[in-house]
Amino acid sequence: MTTNFLLVGAGLSSAVIGRHLAEAGHKVTIFEGRDHIGGNCHTERDAETGVMVHIYGPHIFHTDDEEVWNYVNSFETFLPYKNRVKTTSQGAVYSLPINLHTINQFYGKTMRPDEARAFIEQQADTSIENPQTFEEQALRFVGPDLYEAFFKGYTMKQWGCHPSELPASILKRLPVRFNYDDNYFFHKFQGMPENGYTAMIEKILDHTNIEVRLSTMFDSATTEGYDHVFYSGPLDGYFGYKLGRLGYRTLDFEKFTDTGDYQGTAVMNYGDVDVPFTRITEHKHFSPWEEHEGTVCYREFSREAQPEDTPYYPIRMMDEKTLLADYVRLANETPNVTFVGRLGTYRYLDMDVTIREALDTARQFSDCLTNGAAMPAFVKSPL
Ligand SMILES: Cc1cc2nc3c(=O)[nH]c(=O)nc-3n(C[C@H](O)[C@H](O)[C@H](O)COP(=O)(O)OP(=O)(O)OC[C@H]3O[C@@H](n4cnc5c(N)ncnc54)[C@H](O)[C@@H]3O)c2cc1C
Repeated sequence: MTTNFLLVGAGLSSAVIGRHLAEAGHKVTIFEGRDHIGGNCHTERDAETGVMVHIYGPHIFHTDDEEVWNYVNSFETFLPYKNRVKTTSQGAVYSLPINLHTINQFYGKTMRPDEARAFIEQQADTSIENPQTFEEQALRFVGPDLYEAFFKGYTMKQWGCHPSELPASILKRLPVRFNYDDNYFFHKFQGMPENGYTAMIEKILDHTNIEVRLSTMFDSATTEGYDHVFYSGPLDGYFGYKLGRLGYRTLDFEKFTDTGDYQGTAVMNYGDVDVPFTRITEHKHFSPWEEHEGTVCYREFSREAQPEDTPYYPIRMMDEKTLLADYVRLANETPNVTFVGRLGTYRYLDMDVTIREALDTARQFSDCLTNGAAMPAFVKSPL
């Protein structure tokens, strides 16, 4: 039986689900409000310099999920890439995440791992027995000096509030390494798509049963004629925001170009609170196998999203959680719609998790079709 599906959004979630359904012989129509595919992973060559630009902010692929790694590699060549982040703080440049090099440089010492561990334990504020806030947690782990230099200012700029107003859960583990490993991620598989993410997503969508309609906004009145909808737009948007808006942080990118090498690395954070941006990203360094005379950089500013802004990071404070539960209730009462992806489930999802969940969603749907069971509104609960 051929079934007709409507998928909302042409990001990774819809591409992976759409491909799976198309290969099973179903018809897939994708509505995308923007004039390009790729969602927030969209990459595009800069017309002036030829540099591959990560339009909605830098994206580095990293995963331990072998099936997901094989999946992306079946559509696009991934070249080796390790994320190494630097930070400018209090007039000096350090390596992140805080590692032995950072600690030795910051304190002007030459400690070995065990010495550094004992030293940091001395700095930690052990009077805080049960940390409740991000600030208390950081002080408990690393003490005031490292907290001030590496966490406080950056966090205030990123979240728009004082770390004493954020929950301790944001900083779950000791954010310090007592060796010289400065690879930002621990994952087994790490890399960058040779021709950018949009080229990869274009190949995932390249199937005769998939039709993509760009610059086409969906609203919930448009479901007629479709057997099922997979919706990767904002959960509250599906219901016309009728209960209120879920809070997001948005990013403003101040793009500038230069020649040669502007900062010598892909990501330079700025930890001081009097520098208004959180970081500068230099996009040519995300494709180190390419050579370009020109260079493209983004100064990145974070602020609370307004209705007309691109939603980036879900805030998920107490207020949002109550509202989220109400929207989840509405979604569960809506037949033939499954809410997917980072906006549809109001969660921050890395790309590998997005793909994993999309594969699981598509498979669960195939099982439901076979068994005549109803597909749930969520495969992963947002709560
Ligand atoms: C700043 C930033 C940096 C990130 N960096 C990384 C990283 O380094 N590594 C990593 O693994 N992950 C990273 N991510 C996460 C990554 O962006 C997500 O995993 C991925 O984009 C999720 O894909 P998606 O399809 O669920 O959502 P999206 O990519 O957001 O796609 C949703 C699409 O739906 C469209 N849409 C919404 N509403 C409608 C509507 N009503 N009608 C039609 N179309 C609609 C949107 O235009 C959008 O194109 C980052 C995310 C952000 C915000």
